[in-house]
Amino acid sequence: MKTLIIGGVAGGMSAATRLRRLDETAEIIVFERGHYVSFANCGLPYYVGGVIRDRQELLLQTPASLAARFRLDVRVDHEVTAIDRARKTVTVRQTQSGAETTESYDRLILAAGATARTGITPAGLATRTLRTVDDVDHIDAVLAGVTGQASAVVIGAGFIGLEAVENLVHRGVHVTLVEFGSQVFGPFDAEMAAPIFDELVAQGVDVRLNTTVTAAADGGVELSDGSVVPADLVIDSVGVLPDTSLATRAGIALGASGGIRVDGSQQTSDPSIYAVGDGVEKVDAIDGSGTLITMAGLANRHGRATADSIAGEPAAASPALGTAILGIFGLTAAMVGWSEKRLVRQGRAHRVVHTHPASHATYYPGAEGMSMKLLVDPLTDAILGAQIVGGSGVDKRIDILATAMTGGLTASSLTRLELAYAPQYASAKDPINQLGYVADNLAAGTTRALQWHELAAARAAGAVLVDVRTAGEFAAGNIPGAINVPLDDLRDRLAELPDAPLIVHCQVGQRGHTAARILAQNGMDVQNLDGGYRTWAAGETSLSLMPTSSTNSERIPA
Ligand SMILES: Cc1cc2nc3c(=O)[nH]c(=O)nc-3n(C[C@H](O)[C@H](O)[C@H](O)COP(=O)(O)OP(=O)(O)OC[C@H]3O[C@@H](n4cnc5c(N)ncnc54)[C@H](O)[C@@H]3O)c2cc1C
Repeated sequence: MKTLIIGGVAGGMSAATRLRRLDETAEIIVFERGHYVSFANCGLPYYVGGVIRDRQELLLQTPASLAARFRLDVRVDHEVTAIDRARKTVTVRQTQSGAETTESYDRLILAAGATARTGITPAGLATRTLRTVDDVDHIDAVLAGVTGQASAVVIGAGFIGLEAVENLVHRGVHVTLVEFGSQVFGPFDAEMAAPIFDELVAQGVDVRLNTTVTAAADGGVELSDGSVVPADLVIDSVGVLPDTSLATRAGIALGASGGIRVDGSQQTSDPSIYAVGDGVEKVDAIDGSGTLITMAGLANRHGRATADSIAGEPAAASPALGTAILGIFGLTAAMVGWSEKRLVRQGRAHRVVHTHPASHATYYPGAEGMSMKLLVDPLTDAILGAQIVGGSGVDKRIDILATAMTGGLTASSLTRLELAYAPQYASAKDPINQLGYVADNLAAGTTRALQWHELAAARAAGAVLVDVRTAGEFAAGNIPGAINVPLDDLRDRLAELPDAPLIVHCQVGQRGHTAARILAQNGMDVQNLDGGYRTWAAGETSLSLMPTSSTNSERIPA
């Protein structure tokens, strides 16, 4: 059996090495058009920032090392330019000499990845993506050639744009971050992204939201707000699209999302051709639709499944949750499943829980705060998604939630997870258990909650807001118009409360829940402001970043 693989990084190399482990006799040839194979693309930004100092660390393997360990025939600087499905051959061009050859296959694996989205940055503006070793060599050379402080413009505040920003700042570069949308880190809901915006500003990044780059200007770039910002370097990180050029020319079917359509064993519409990685449409784990998720874990997992299929092993379909994590100036932002804005867009019913726990018991030194958001199906109690932003412990909690979703655990059953606890690692009620408690209370109707963006409308309809924090907390910052009745005084001051629907809130939602229970058991109509003052304040920050021309309906986090 002769297998050709197009693309020698995440998906392609996973497939190649797994196939070798399963079949010692297989003939496996990998074509990689770049000069490097199996390089650490996820590490590239950290080389720019000097965190990874030795360029060699990025180059995990060479054709020689892969030949020695896996008996793979890896041909770098070889681009596949065409697929002839009838003859089962590919045309290969040696990129330096231009020489063309033809190679036959029994099985072909497309692992060509993604391609940078084009047509967004203005024509004539010299930009650079941050996707390859050549890119980081170029960025490095430009920065090294600048005398004094270098300036850079990063276009796009998604995963790679934010990693670029962090690393350029580490490197001492002045950075302007230009983002067309009204928030940074678009995969997050706006109120969860607000701390990232605050941190970028605190680090001296010039963040321009609701803005785009319109033209090259003398010494920099011109922005859509009319300003000109300096730029020795412009990094284009507006996103990627599946690289389907070869597949399309060969008549291989694409899915509605634009990625190559595959079945549960990664087989394309041509039974001899498989596809993996960023170029491929994934099956969304929430609704089974075709979706595009460009993550290394999926490329590796599906590469392995492809090899299993080719070797005749059963390969189970594995839908994608979109689990992802970002580090930005000491903050960690992580997510799994769908966001609230996506649920709203799809018209899908959902319940929202915000909490703000500490990474471990607060009496033990070093605890760091985090903000968590859980999205739950109100009919089935299924977990639809989660987002967490904060310090240490975010990574662990998002992975627990991803595991819970994979295993089909309900939100309420998070209460029953028996997680490891000692004060330096967690709390006896782990943040995950706490999310479960809130979700369980909501599902059981023990408490009713109101979201931060629903507050204004509820008050306009006559509800009265009661802040149950201490007088000191109230004085340090409050929601305008709230009356302050501290929780510990509440039972004695019930008569002071107006005969109107009440909304209670505290700092993070926990005391508010206790207050809501006291008031409900005294016959009052009460809701707890979910996530308390902290979520409300983050939400207000996110609203303040929206374009001033937005209508009210646009100013909710849809
Ligand atoms: C800077 C950066 C940081 C990232 N960080 C993370 C992260 O922290 N976590 C995460 O999960 N994901 C991250 N990703 C995404 C992750 O790297 C991709 O999801 C993953 O590499 C996709 O694997 P793939 O095999 O589909 O494509 P790739 O790994 O991109 O490999 C595709 C290869 O195919 C080659 N190729 C394309 N066309 C041809 C052709 N015609 N002939 C021969 N070769 C061809 C390309 O040169 C390329 O080397 C990051 C990506 C980048 C660029």
